[in-house]
Amino acid sequence: MFSNAEIGIDLGTANILIYSKSKGIVLNEPSVVAIDIHSKQVVAVGAEAKEMIGKTPQNIIPIRPLKDGVIADYDVTAQMLKALLKKVSKKVGISTRKPTVVVCTPSGSTSVERRAIHNAVTSYGAKHVHLIEEPVAAAIGADLPVDEPIANVIVDIGGGTSEVGIISFGGVVACNSIRVAGDRLDEEIIQHIRKNYNILIGERTAENIKMEIGYAHPNHEEVPMEIRGRDMVTGLPKTITISSMEIYNAIKESLEQILDTIRATLEECPPELSGDIVDHGIVLTGGGALLNGLKEWLSDKINVPVHMAPNPLESVAIGTGRSLKMINKLQKAAK
Ligand code: ADP
Ligand code: MG
Repeated sequence: MFSNAEIGIDLGTANILIYSKSKGIVLNEPSVVAIDIHSKQVVAVGAEAKEMIGKTPQNIIPIRPLKDGVIADYDVTAQMLKALLKKVSKKVGISTRKPTVVVCTPSGSTSVERRAIHNAVTSYGAKHVHLIEEPVAAAIGADLPVDEPIANVIVDIGGGTSEVGIISFGGVVACNSIRVAGDRLDEEIIQHIRKNYNILIGERTAENIKMEIGYAHPNHEEVPMEIRGRDMVTGLPKTITISSMEIYNAIKESLEQILDTIRATLEECPPELSGDIVDHGIVLTGGGALLNGLKEWLSDKINVPVHMAPNPLESVAIGTGRSLKMINKLQKAAK
């Protein structure tokens, strides 16, 4: 017989991960759901739905309901979660009936947005739902000693938001969030190609360009890349070659904005904890942290050691899972 499952959910804007206490990470899929607008039914979810972006017939729309870091569309988010939880319980045979769930919430989210997340999970039938702030989950998942009275600085660069948090003694001492992260870099790349070449490319292509030849640091060996898009003048497909240096120029302003948020948060750090940051530095996590040269560029700019979390794409999920144990303690600290 199944006991009620205990699961942690990283409800990310780009990827959703589900962590089961007994089995570790049991699901890691893009936060995308494809809906048939006539029947309102879910046609596909996760990777299968992401694959459809920019390619579907008119009646089927792939949606990223969390795109800007909050639940833009509550019903769709709930539907997506339901479909993913169903997939998990089928795939790995864990019971997701009446689970105890820990879900992370973006640190900048309002009480209304937090309630929306809470309700979306409850509507699936969760028995107990605990919310944990994302930077805390990320820090726990990145193996930082969050319980100790020292400054643990975590920078989580996701799809929709970048969050910077300083955690000490189990609680958030300072934190800031901006809606500039991986998606914004993709948009900058789309704009750059459109303005300079009169060529339209899709989100998926832009993301591939970023991962392959996107650099945060101007000091890198220039890399070319052949890309395809639609010529806006002729309307026909066209292939061009672009270089990593122009992509660097296209994304550098957005990266500066993330840097400003890190600086602002470090300035808010109480003086007694500032010394810790000089010694221990900051830890990067989230998929956006994987951008080529980001770690080196940041350490040049802020003059403290910059480390990469062991599994940047999984820190939050691992942290929500581990926090199942310590959730009561954290809630006490937050009061
Ligand atoms: P979220 O928590 O918002 O779901 P993730 O932490 O899953 O976001 O990170 C997703 C973001 O990371 C996307 O914008 C994706 O393009 C970006 N990303 C993933 N891998 C890389 C990489 N190797 N280089 C640059 N960006 C990356
Ligand atoms: Mg995240």
